[in-house]
Amino acid sequence: MLRKALSLINLIRELGVSDESVLSVMGAIDRSLFLPSTLTHRAYENNALPIGQGQTLSQPYTVARMSAILRQHMQDQCITQPQILEIGTGSGFQTAVLSQIFSHVYSVERIKSLQFQARRRLRHLDCYNVSLKHGDGWEGWPSKGPFDGIIVTAAAATLPEVLLEQLSPKGCLLIPVGESDQQLYLYQRHGEEFTHQIVEEVKFVPLVPGELQ
Ligand code: SAH
Repeated sequence: MLRKALSLINLIRELGVSDESVLSVMGAIDRSLFLPSTLTHRAYENNALPIGQGQTLSQPYTVARMSAILRQHMQDQCITQPQILEIGTGSGFQTAVLSQIFSHVYSVERIKSLQFQARRRLRHLDCYNVSLKHGDGWEGWPSKGPFDGIIVTAAAATLPEVLLEQLSPKGCLLIPVGESDQQLYLYQRHGEEFTHQIVEEVKFVPLVPGELQ
C-alpha cells in the first residue's frame, strides 16, 4: 500500500472504523482514479472532494463507516450473497468499494456525465459485479430488487418510503436525512416491521428530486 494510503487508512481506523476487510479494500483502491486530474494530488486527504457538476466524492471516513455498517448488518443477519443498491453513483468510488465486499452492486445516478465517467472507471478496474443506471434514486430500482442493503450517498430532505419497500425481509437502508443539519439513519427490516436508529451527524450533497440531468 502507498505510504499516503496507509496513513489515511490508519486515520480512519483511529476515527473508529475497525472492520479490517473494509479498510483493506479501501486501501487497495486508488482514489486518485476517481478524481479530476487537477485534484489527484489530494486523493489521500480525509475530505470530500469536488468531482464536477456541483457534486463531491464522499469523505473516505464516511465511505468506510457506511460500508462497515452494511457489512456488519449482513454478518448479523447471515445474509451470504448480499445484493446492494446504491443511490448516487457520483465518481463511482463507493461503488468500487462495495463491489469488492458484496455479491452485486446496483447503482443509480441522476447526472449522465458522472454516470458515464463512473462506468469507465469501474470497467477499467474490472468491477464486473456492478450494474449502473441513469435514473432518479427517489424511485430506487424496483425491477432489480429486493435488496439486502440500500445505501444512499446524498442527503434526502425526507425519507423516500419507496426505498423501504425495496428491502428484502432482513434488509437495511442507510440514508442521510436532513438539509443543513443531516443525520445518518439506519433502518432495519424485520419482515413487515421496521426499526431505525441514528448513527451520527453527516454532511452530504442533497438528494435532488425529479428531473434527470
Ligand atoms: N458515492 C459518491 C457520492 C457522490 S455525491 C462518491 O463517493 O463519489 C452524491 C451523488 O448523488 C451525486 O453524484 C448526485 O448527482 C447524486 N444524486 C443526487 N440526487 C440524486 C437522485 N435523485 N438520484 C440519483 N442520484 C442522485
